[in-house]
Amino acid sequence: MKFNSALENIKSYEAGKPIELVVREYGIDKDQIVKLASNENPFGCSPKVKEAVRAIVDNMALYPDDSMVKLKKGLSEKYGIKMNELVIGAGSDQVIEFAIHAKAHGGSKVLMNSVTFAMYEIYAKQVGAEIIRTASREHKMEEFYALYQEHNPSIIFLCTPNNPTGDALDAGEMLSFIEKIDSDTLVIVDGAYMEYARFKDPTKAVEPCELIERFDNVLFLGTFSKAYGLGGMRVGYGIAQGPIIEALYKVRPPFNITTLSLEAASVALEDEAFVQECIADNFSQMVRYEDFARTKGIHIIESYTNFVTLSLPEEKNSSIIAQELLKKGMIVRDLSSYGLNAIRVTIGTSAQNDRFFELTDSLV
Ligand SMILES: *Cc1c(COP(=O)(O)O)cnc(C)c1O
Repeated sequence: MKFNSALENIKSYEAGKPIELVVREYGIDKDQIVKLASNENPFGCSPKVKEAVRAIVDNMALYPDDSMVKLKKGLSEKYGIKMNELVIGAGSDQVIEFAIHAKAHGGSKVLMNSVTFAMYEIYAKQVGAEIIRTASREHKMEEFYALYQEHNPSIIFLCTPNNPTGDALDAGEMLSFIEKIDSDTLVIVDGAYMEYARFKDPTKAVEPCELIERFDNVLFLGTFSKAYGLGGMRVGYGIAQGPIIEALYKVRPPFNITTLSLEAASVALEDEAFVQECIADNFSQMVRYEDFARTKGIHIIESYTNFVTLSLPEEKNSSIIAQELLKKGMIVRDLSSYGLNAIRVTIGTSAQNDRFFELTDSLV
């Protein structure tokens, strides 16, 4: 069968291996497996969220509130924005899909960093857009600007902090860059890890209300999958001026967020103390990875997220190391598909990190 020819050069997204698969393939006991591969919060979500979700399980027969008023109200208060400056997606992934489908088409160009979140490319290729990438591993605004001038892209992705490397842009530098971009180019600022960056270094913190007050061509993305510990519920959001949100609504399927997910995300916003405690723990555990890397002579990229990227020396192949760890029940992310000889490790609980150091010690 022939399919849409745009699909021909798309490689399906390779997700972090689920625990169930490692149980089946390696016959390892479920509770012996540690997954540090998908940047989930190792403490999960606030206990208040679990309680709230349990309380509404009898509502599953009814379609969800498609106006999503409770969640939008919570987000608009958190960020100091209006409810009509928000769109909710099944993960911020879905908002990326909306934005690309609303703005790009065959022949459009989409500009992104050399190494960055894989879904930008996949969605852009679905509509037949051409991918333009910078050369450097880190976001370099001068490279972005030169490529912007050369190609006049319809969308520019800035992922800060960046996945899978963990580094973050200086907020002021990013704002000065956006100043110079024509208002017909959509600039998407993916802030999936912004809660972590804001905690570690305020100079990296991008405030969505400031972004959309200043610019009519910027879409900020946030998610409940990382710091808020709700990856399984699939809730993310986009923040932009009204006209962008209206365009995204035209490509949004109705009822795209479930009743349980809406409730979970709304209540998660009410327990900010839980999230901040998890973030504080994340950075105190990160020091242990930095120490481990130093004693092993491995390069670690300074991270503003809940993961670290360990660049391995040439003689240590990241695919092999990741595979060896997998056999022992430790799931990490091999970055060879990104052209890096590196592994990405999500910061776990203290005990999970102990296990990582113990298993990795003899391999690197
Ligand atoms: C995890 C992640 C997302 C989206 O996650 P969702 O679960 O779809 O909300 C988006 N961008 C980056 C950079 C991420 O790491």
